[in-house]
Amino acid sequence: MATLREKNVLVTGGGRGIGRAIALAFASEGCRVAITGRTQASLDAVAKEIRAKGAKALPLCCDVTRKDEVDALNREIAGEFGGIQILVNNAGMAPAAAFLEMEDRLWNQVLKVNLTGAYHCCKVFLPAMIAAKWGRIINIASTVAKVAYPYIAAYTASKHGLLGLTRALAIEMARTGVTVNAICPGYVETELTLGNAARMAEKTGKEVEEVLKLFKSATPQNRLIAPEEVADLAVMLASESTGGITGQAINVDGGAVMV
Ligand code: NAP
Repeated sequence: MATLREKNVLVTGGGRGIGRAIALAFASEGCRVAITGRTQASLDAVAKEIRAKGAKALPLCCDVTRKDEVDALNREIAGEFGGIQILVNNAGMAPAAAFLEMEDRLWNQVLKVNLTGAYHCCKVFLPAMIAAKWGRIINIASTVAKVAYPYIAAYTASKHGLLGLTRALAIEMARTGVTVNAICPGYVETELTLGNAARMAEKTGKEVEEVLKLFKSATPQNRLIAPEEVADLAVMLASESTGGITGQAINVDGGAVMV
């Protein structure tokens, strides 16, 4: 694979979980890595890990639902690194609720973070990629971008939307040197999954371990995905040699969804 050394990467939601693993994977490739989220302390902790790999880190607080904050983020990164060449839209939330009990507030918040947040970042960071005639946008969707499960209507709608945005942008950007792809993980071993397992255990009277077993058994490989597996695919999609891959949605789910 051609080198990614010295490329500038932004990972939203880079302070923990999948985003942290992606940030560290790009750091290992010698990229300069900007990470965002709403919690400075966790961003600083990941920045320390990035620097320990000898790479440059920029931990900047930003709520991706706020366009003004994403604009300010762009200015700060441009001042330190120059333009972003690789954008990973990873920030997300996945609360569960039965459809009729779901508060409107929850629906609006999930769409705002998972879909509008990615929209804001694409809008703000794309012009520099187009000007440079090279760029990579990698949207961290989910298998629920392709199929549906009960009690996560907002999450499912937001990730279907994110896949729609991926495809629409991929076509519009096809002759600019910018590729746009989605990664669709199944259950990944992160705080998000462990939190959901704990809440489901509380609701159903099961042990957390029992719920995790159910999550695992939903995949033919009978296991959770490690965040590093998603990160490795993100690095691959960013590489020079994958320039012909665009508008795709690649599952990392142990074979759970085969579309
Ligand atoms: P996580 O551990 O809960 O991390 C979510 C990250 O998003 C955190 O760093 C959080 O930081 C950030 N974030 C949330 N709201 C934000 C906002 N408004 N602005 C900026 N950052 C925000 O989740 P994860 O499991 O790593 O998931 C990462 C992505 O993968 C999500 O998009 C998720 O939907 C997707 N995914 C996860 C799984 C899974 O099984 N875990 C499966 C498929 C897809 P702050 O709270 O500090 O803002």
